[in-house]
Amino acid sequence: MTPTSDLRDAAVADPPRADPPSAVAPPAPVPADALSGGPRGADALEPLLRTVLGALAEGAVRRGGPIAAGRPAELAGLVAREFDAPGGEDALHRLTELLAHGSADPADPSCAAHLHCPPLAVAVAADLAVSALNPSQDSWDQAPAATSLETLLLEELAQLVGYDPAEAAGVLTSGGTESNLMGLMLARDRVLGRATSGRIELGGVPGWKLDGTPRPRIFASEAAHFSVRRAAALLGLGEEAVVTVPVDSTLRMDPEALAAALDTAVRRGELPVAVAATAGTTDTGAIDPLRECAALADRHGAWLHVDAAYGGGALLSDRLAPLLDGIALADSVSLDWHKLGWQPAAAGVFLVRRAETYASLARRAAYLNPADDEEAGYPSLLGLSLRTTRRADAFKIAVTLRTLGRAGLGRLVDTCHDLARSAAETARAHPQLEPHCEPVLTAFVFRYLPEDPRLAGRADAIDTINARLRRGLLRAGRAVVGRTELPGDGPGRVRLKLTLLNPHTTPADVAGLLATVVTAGRAEEEALLRGEAQ
Ligand SMILES: *Cc1c(COP(=O)(O)O)cnc(C)c1O
Repeated sequence: MTPTSDLRDAAVADPPRADPPSAVAPPAPVPADALSGGPRGADALEPLLRTVLGALAEGAVRRGGPIAAGRPAELAGLVAREFDAPGGEDALHRLTELLAHGSADPADPSCAAHLHCPPLAVAVAADLAVSALNPSQDSWDQAPAATSLETLLLEELAQLVGYDPAEAAGVLTSGGTESNLMGLMLARDRVLGRATSGRIELGGVPGWKLDGTPRPRIFASEAAHFSVRRAAALLGLGEEAVVTVPVDSTLRMDPEALAAALDTAVRRGELPVAVAATAGTTDTGAIDPLRECAALADRHGAWLHVDAAYGGGALLSDRLAPLLDGIALADSVSLDWHKLGWQPAAAGVFLVRRAETYASLARRAAYLNPADDEEAGYPSLLGLSLRTTRRADAFKIAVTLRTLGRAGLGRLVDTCHDLARSAAETARAHPQLEPHCEPVLTAFVFRYLPEDPRLAGRADAIDTINARLRRGLLRAGRAVVGRTELPGDGPGRVRLKLTLLNPHTTPADVAGLLATVVTAGRAEEEALLRGEAQ
C-alpha cells in the first residue's frame, strides 16, 4: 500500500473533525537564517562554518594520529551515544567533532592505505560554494553557469587525454565504478548492437544460450578493478562474460595472453565486445600495454575502455605522462580526480573519443530537456549521465586547475611518486622488508618477513603476521596501512601496501612508517611463536 492510500483510508475511518481547519495551530515560523542561499545565505553560514572549523580542529586533536585508537565496536559505541543524545543547536559541533575524531585522516603521513587522498583546501572551499548553491546538472535552468563550466572542463580534460575536444564528449561521474559501467554499457550497445542488428538499449541483451547469437565477451586483466565484473553483471552480460587475462609480476596485462584470449574467443564463435585495460592498477599502479590493447581491440572490432581511475593522474606530470602513451586510442576513459587529483569525493570523469558513440544513453524528459528548449539554445547534460539530479562536481576541479595549473598538480604527482620510490629504497635496505616490485606511480607493495628462522619460508605464518600487524596498527591508532593479496592461489600472497598521496609527507615520514611496521611485525612474530609453543 502506498503512503497516499494509507492516508486516504485513515481519513475515511476517522470520525469527522470537530474543529474547523482555521483552528489548527499554525506551524512555528521558519528561522529567517535557515538557508545557505539567497541574500542572507552567507550570513547564515558564517557562524556555522566557524563552528565546523573549530570542531574539526578539536576532533583532530582528540584523535591525535591517523585514526582513533580502539576496536571498531568501541568507536561504534561512541557514535551511537552521540547519535542518540538529545538534539539541538550543538548537534553540528558535537557530531562534527565526533566525525573528525573518528575519521581516518589521509592528511596524516601515517594514513596511507588506499587511493584516499587528502583533499586540497581550495577544492574543499570550492565544493562548499557548490553545496551552498546546489546547482543540479540535469537541466540548464537548475545550473546555468555550472552547465557551461562542466562542458568547458570536459573539453580541457579531453585534450589532456589526447582526444580532439571537438569530437569528444563526457560527463562527471561518482567515480571509476560508474565510469567503467558507462564505458562498458556504450561498448555493449554499439558492438553487440551492430553484431545483432538491434538496439540493445531497447530490445535488451540477446540470449546467446537460447538463440545462438554469439556470446558477448569482455577482456580484462587479473588485476582489473572488480567494478569491471560488476558492470558486466549489471549490463546483463554476466560476470562470466569477463575473460581474465594473465598479468606479469608487476600486475601488468600480458599482451600476448590478450591476443591469445581474443583468438580463442573468436575461434569459439564468441563476440569480443570490449577490452577493458587498466592504466594504474589499484595495488601496484601497473599500466597495461595500451597501444597493444588498442591494436588488438581494433583488429577484433571491440571497444577499448581504459580504466585510468588511478593512473590518469600521471597525465598531470611531464615525468609520468609517457607511461600512458596510447590512451588517446581508447574509445572511452575513466579518470578519478578524487585520487591523483586531490579533490574531495566525488570527482569522477568519463570521456568518450567520439560523441556519436554516446547515442544509446540519450534520453528526452519533457520537464528537463524539451527539444524546443534545446533548439532555442538551452543546452542539457541529461543525456550524458546515468543520473538525473547531479552535483556540480566539475566546479572544484575547475577551480583547482585554475589555481594550481597542470604544472602545480604535476608537482604533487611527482612528489608522491618520489615518496613511493623512497619507500622502496628504504625497504630494499631492510632485511625484514620485502618489496614486491618497483613502484610505477605512488603505491608501494611489500611485506614483512619474520626474523626468527623458525618462521622463515612458512608462507601461511607470514600471511598471518602481515594481516595481524596491520590490524594491530589500526587498533593502536598508529598507522593505516593497506593490505592486499597477489593474484593466484594458496598462502604467501598477502602483501602490505602504502598508497602515497600526501604531498606534505617526507621521505623521513615514510621511513618512520616502515619502521613502525617492522616493530609491529616483530611483536606479531613473537606472539605467534608464543601461541604455537603453548
Ligand atoms: C578506484 C578505482 C576504481 C573505482 O573508482 P571509484 O571512484 O572508487 O568508484 C576503478 N578502477 C581503478 C583502477 C581504481 O583504482
